[in-house]
Amino acid sequence: MAKPRPLVAGNWKNNGLVAGARALVKDVAAGIGGAKVEIVICPPYPLIAIVASALEGGQIRVGAQDCFTEPDGAYTGDVATEILGDVGCRYVIVGHSERRDLHRESDELVAEKVRAVWRAGLAAIVCIGETEAEKERGRTAMRIMSQLSASLPDGVTAENLVVAYEPVWAIGSGKTPTTAEIAMVHSLIRNALKARFGEAAGGIRLLYGGSVKPANAQALMAIDNVDGALVGGASLKANDFLAIVRACHRA
Ligand code: PEP
Repeated sequence: MAKPRPLVAGNWKNNGLVAGARALVKDVAAGIGGAKVEIVICPPYPLIAIVASALEGGQIRVGAQDCFTEPDGAYTGDVATEILGDVGCRYVIVGHSERRDLHRESDELVAEKVRAVWRAGLAAIVCIGETEAEKERGRTAMRIMSQLSASLPDGVTAENLVVAYEPVWAIGSGKTPTTAEIAMVHSLIRNALKARFGEAAGGIRLLYGGSVKPANAQALMAIDNVDGALVGGASLKANDFLAIVRACHRA
C-alpha cells in the first residue's frame, strides 16, 4: 500500500489572541508554497471561526482541540462537534494527554467523543502515549495497546481517523524518544489497527507528537510508519511550523 499523504497539525492549546492569530495563519499560509503535506491548525474554540475565515479558499484546514459528546442541549460550556463543523473545522483532537490528565478523561469518554466527531462528519485525531513512570517500568507497549483499543470505537477508516503517538513526558519538555523507540511504537500501532480494522488501516495517518522542532523534524519524519507530526509549542511560530512542514515534505 502507498504511504498515506503526510499531515502536520498545529495545536495552539490555550494560546493566541485575535490579531496575533490572524497574523500567524497569514504567515503560515504565505509560506507553504505547493506543500503536498496536509496542514491543520487547531486554535482555541473562540478563534476557530476567525482562523477559518482567514484561511478560506486556501489549502490549510482547521481543527478543534476537544469537543463534547452531545449534539445540542443544556450543557453549559460544552461545544458540540456539529457546531465545530459549522464554524469550519474538519478535524478534532480527542484524548490529548492534557485532557486525559487535567480533566480526567477516560478512554471510554475519548471513544464517545470520537463517535461524536464522526456523527458530525469530521475526522478525529486521537492521542495516545505513556507517562514517564510507565516508560520507566517498561510498560510503554502495554499502555499504548490498551489506550488504542479502548479509545477507538468500531467504524474506523483511513479518512475518519488519525492517531497521534505523544509520549506524555516528551510534550513541551524538549525530550523525545529514540528513533528505535518511535519506530517500535508506531509499528505496534499500525499492526494493531490492521488486526482490528483490516488492511485498509495501512492508510491511517500515524503522527508523532512531543517536542517536534525544526532541528529534529526531518529525522523524526523519516521513521517508518510516521506519517506526520502533531506540533504544540513550535506551531505558535510561523517559521518553526513551516520548517516542520518542509521537513515532513522532504522525509
Ligand atoms: C502537544 O501538546 O500536542 C505537543 C506535541 O506539544 P509540544 O510540541 O510543545 O511538545
